[in-house]
Amino acid sequence: MSTLEKLGASPRKSLGQNFLHDNNLARWIVDRLELQPGDHVLEIGPGLGALTEWLPLDRVSATLLEKDRLFASFLQERFSGPSLEVRLGDALQYDKRALFCKGEVKLVGNLPYYVSTALLFHFSAEPCPISRMVLTVQKEVGDRLTASPRSGEYGSLSVLLQRRWQIKRLKVLPPSVFLPRPEVDSLVIEFRKKRPQDVSEISERWFEKVVKAGFSERRKKLTNTLSKLVPSRAAEEALAASGLSGLSRAEELSPEAWVNLARRLGDFSSVARHGLGSDVSDQAGPGVLVAPRPDAVDPKESLQVVDEHDHPTRGVDRATVHAEKLLHRAVHIFVLNNAGELFLQRRSYRKDNFPRKWDSSAAGHVDVGESYQVCASRELLEELGLTAEPKEIAQVAASEKTGQEFIRVYLVEGEEIVDLNEQEIETGGFFPLSIVDEWIESRAEDFASGFLECYREVRARIGAGKGET
Ligand code: SAM
Repeated sequence: MSTLEKLGASPRKSLGQNFLHDNNLARWIVDRLELQPGDHVLEIGPGLGALTEWLPLDRVSATLLEKDRLFASFLQERFSGPSLEVRLGDALQYDKRALFCKGEVKLVGNLPYYVSTALLFHFSAEPCPISRMVLTVQKEVGDRLTASPRSGEYGSLSVLLQRRWQIKRLKVLPPSVFLPRPEVDSLVIEFRKKRPQDVSEISERWFEKVVKAGFSERRKKLTNTLSKLVPSRAAEEALAASGLSGLSRAEELSPEAWVNLARRLGDFSSVARHGLGSDVSDQAGPGVLVAPRPDAVDPKESLQVVDEHDHPTRGVDRATVHAEKLLHRAVHIFVLNNAGELFLQRRSYRKDNFPRKWDSSAAGHVDVGESYQVCASRELLEELGLTAEPKEIAQVAASEKTGQEFIRVYLVEGEEIVDLNEQEIETGGFFPLSIVDEWIESRAEDFASGFLECYREVRARIGAGKGET
């Protein structure tokens, strides 16, 4: 008697239930994750556990997301353990921000086909805690994900996913390996997150808008489709400035060419700064560079050096300040949205201090002759494109932990959209304070030490009145 029969269940087509019954294949799929001790696995739609069975649950932790109540309780009984969590619900509603505290996170799943592209966008959207994914999708979707320019399958899905992920076709699966048999072939696909050095920088949200507009009518010229976003003259000029003909069509542009074009369109377009609506669910603002912004690191920048009482003495270049561990000044700005969530930025790999660490919403050194307050407003604008007036809420004395910085901490509340400076910031997002607390508790090494000092100082104050403790 099959497990399904024992459970008194029959496969639900509405939930895309096709169960993999080939054990060797199931094991082979899980092996492709190359799991290491301490990894965390997120599985979408575990069903009866065909893939789950091969997870080394003595060495890795796992979260299983299953929408079918019967299967969720079956999985709970079959696989229960301290390192495993079964969550009943729609994977599309899952808040993946909770995974940042888990370290290396890998996603696996034989996806329910009715919702596979939505799941792909949900789980790959920035800020994304996942480094690798091995997923089975319907072959037609797999073909689109891995398509090259000028092919019939090449579309917005290919361009948007290929920018950040190295995507590889692993194996075609015939319908016969599933029960019941799906109507189409399937494809196992591997996604590896690219190194930030290999990803061309552009605002995720603006890029998505441009690409989707471009592909909205495949047969039309880009000058026509892009005029939904910007005046047609601007579209023509942006195409010319990107070295593209006015006759170009969406499917002819490589992902790299799309980035160039989106940047040019941003330069020409005021929509880039103001016309993106208010959806900030998974992404920071348009981030299109309207005016040139400073490079991430300027070693000649003259910083305000101070004495042990924080009294200004002289200006010294930043390389010397750091090499000689001179006392100097910095500001950290905490931006909260209306839900009381804190915007965290991930520092660019280009930074000389704490590259790729998570940090305050915005932060920076006080320049020689500059006040803390002026510096806070400047950093807020330069890094996040915000013009709000920061309010001072705390001071942190200079120490080894602050890198010899006297820090003043500022608060900005009620902001929903930020306009990331991609030169300085790899990614970012709003996080509930409870998630930040847990993340710091389990992985303090993910954060810049100055942020940890500031957060400790102000945590009780910024949590007050927002349902946080
Ligand atoms: N992993 C199992 C296997 O390989 O045999 C089952 C795969 S089956 C193609 C898809 C699974 O996803 C089913 O268990 C279904 O109940 C579950 N599912 C469907 N929609 C879902 C959703 N929105 N969120 C979470 N799970 C979902």
